Amino acid sequence: MGKVFFVRQGDYGQGAVDSAVKRVFDHFGGISCFVRPDTRVLLKVNLVSGHDIERRVTTDPSIVRAAAKLVLEAGATPFIADSPGIDSFQRAAEKAGFVQVAEELGIECRELTDPVDLPPAENADFKHIQVSRQVLEADSVISLAKLKTHGQMYLTMGVKNLFGTIPGRLKAGWHYNVGLNREKFASLLLDIYAGVKPTFTLLDGVIGMDGDGPTSGEPYSFGLIGGCVDALTMDFWLCRMLGGKLEDYPLYLAARGKNLPQCELDAGDVEGDFSPDYVFPNVKLPKTRSMRLLPRIPFIERLMTSRPVHIPEKCIGCGRCAAVCAAHALRHENKHLYFDYGKCIRCYCCHEMCPVKAIKFQESRLLKMVNFFTH
Ligand code: SF4
Ligand code: SF4
Repeated sequence: MGKVFFVRQGDYGQGAVDSAVKRVFDHFGGISCFVRPDTRVLLKVNLVSGHDIERRVTTDPSIVRAAAKLVLEAGATPFIADSPGIDSFQRAAEKAGFVQVAEELGIECRELTDPVDLPPAENADFKHIQVSRQVLEADSVISLAKLKTHGQMYLTMGVKNLFGTIPGRLKAGWHYNVGLNREKFASLLLDIYAGVKPTFTLLDGVIGMDGDGPTSGEPYSFGLIGGCVDALTMDFWLCRMLGGKLEDYPLYLAARGKNLPQCELDAGDVEGDFSPDYVFPNVKLPKTRSMRLLPRIPFIERLMTSRPVHIPEKCIGCGRCAAVCAAHALRHENKHLYFDYGKCIRCYCCHEMCPVKAIKFQESRLLKMVNFFTH
């Protein structure tokens, strides 16, 4: 049996999504292989912050509804949960359509709060990660991830979705602790993933995002719903299918650094409606670079990453960008932003939290040159 199963699904019509999601679970033996009766199952959605559904930032409610109905049919109690970086949970969850799904099915939709220590997985690099208590108290976690590009981490799919189990602003603190090193941040993601141990990952790639993801890119119709037990394998295959290079994907580099077996890709791992050598046409990927060829010093690393810049004509002056910046590298005053690029750790949280796409990425000359000669 393949480790990753992809179903072709072109729209969010509920009946078709229900069938597609059931088909994904059935490939792995059915929902009852992952959910025991009378247990509490956390459905970890991708919420980020309050965005309209049409922006395709968040897991589509039809996917959440389909998964929740299957869990209910299996005799368990699902609850929808996530922790936005800065927004009010209620407002963000209403915009994303999660509150409505919960009301309709009579289930809970709640914020992940109350940080507690995550027992470290074997060989973890980070021993003191705190995730929400609700994550550890759930009997199982099903991750409902979204297929998107990501300015800092190249792509966000199954593994990255678990970063949201860290409550609220603690996430920005981790960005600051890890700093400019993307492989180190990817290592942190691997440790969170291994510690939380979702029993299943369901990926919403019906309409995902390319370009300046995870919040300011453009919707891209991948027409795909994916499922897997091992999200790392799925993420690596999708990197290739999106036309990306694994060597540009910090998650892959971190996994290779840990000698994880998933780094050996085997075409037999992928089954379903998409062949493993299928490549989606013209996907715009971030120009994230790995710094593996150059010395790892902050000056060089800053030159080798795009920097955030302001687009004043789009700005509404909400100040969320400055509020989320853990490095204190950004000041907001009357719709003007003042960046201190010497302090900036290129985490792009400001870009991610901007509700109106008023922050963009700008490549340095050196990065442009390297991209020109190597892409
Ligand atoms: S300015 Fe933006 S990219 Fe730079 S550290 Fe602050 S939040 Fe991160
Ligand atoms: S750049 Fe975006 S987040 Fe920052 S103040 Fe302007 S609108 Fe708000």
